[in-house]
Amino acid sequence: MTVGRVRAEASGQVRTHESHKAEPSRRYRVDLRGRCALVLALLFGMLTAAQSATLPAGITLDQPLRQGQLVVGHTEAGARVSVDQRNLRVDAQGRFVFGLARDQRRISLCVRLAADTRARCAGLAVAARDYAIERVSGLPPATVTPDPEEQARIARENALIAQARERDEPRSDFLLPWVRPAQGRISGVYGSQRILNGEPRSPHLGLDIAAPTGTQIRAPAPGVVTLVHPGMLLSGQTVIVDHGHGVNSVYIHMSRTDVQQGQVLKTGDPIGAIGMTGRASGPHLHWGLNWFEVKLDPALVAP
Ligand SMILES: [Zn+2]
Repeated sequence: MTVGRVRAEASGQVRTHESHKAEPSRRYRVDLRGRCALVLALLFGMLTAAQSATLPAGITLDQPLRQGQLVVGHTEAGARVSVDQRNLRVDAQGRFVFGLARDQRRISLCVRLAADTRARCAGLAVAARDYAIERVSGLPPATVTPDPEEQARIARENALIAQARERDEPRSDFLLPWVRPAQGRISGVYGSQRILNGEPRSPHLGLDIAAPTGTQIRAPAPGVVTLVHPGMLLSGQTVIVDHGHGVNSVYIHMSRTDVQQGQVLKTGDPIGAIGMTGRASGPHLHWGLNWFEVKLDPALVAP
């Protein structure tokens, strides 16, 4: 039974602590067989819960650890923080951010304060969520089953998106609160297993807001426009906004874009208008939120 992992980052070594169910002595087992099993089960339950709940000293988090969550954290300025061995940018006020993927179950969170000789780490449980199954029919066949030429185009366009998402800017625009970028009916939620024209596809990793073509889309948080594309095969008219520390948001299927690459936005500034360009069966905004390449649930930052 694995209770937790501790990584000693400072020494460059990886230490793994694993607790195994203790083998009681023969006499103890004979005397107290039933009670012993119960006590052991309770003890291990408590140990697991305590390990899961305990952050390393010197860190606080504003959000719970759950799948799809953008998590803002605080520590002292100059501290070093890592999640699953990825070093996070810590700003002059000690703030940092990371994201949890759709299917993530645990993270290893480490901090090294200025006074520490080595990093302190904790293995933490990520709360699992239930995801819906979503069926979408009537999509143009070429967008569901692309031919080789279209596959090459999709790969090129995905590379542009991936490049925009690699940025790690020293802006702190990701700090909450966020607002929703458009008003409308929620027609698709994060995490759903999608079945497109009857064929299972990768999960839906954004929030769909359905509204008439031309409905204004506005910046949900401050940021900088890092990509404006006039028409991708799957995404149609596409905009990506960078919010600092690897946090970025994407707006696709738009009928119009109102921004230029490099433009600085404040909350509420126009980004574009709702449409159904690219792979869409009706006018809606697909709003995506990322921490680098990790796709997060936008509904959790702007409920
Ligand atoms: Zn969508």
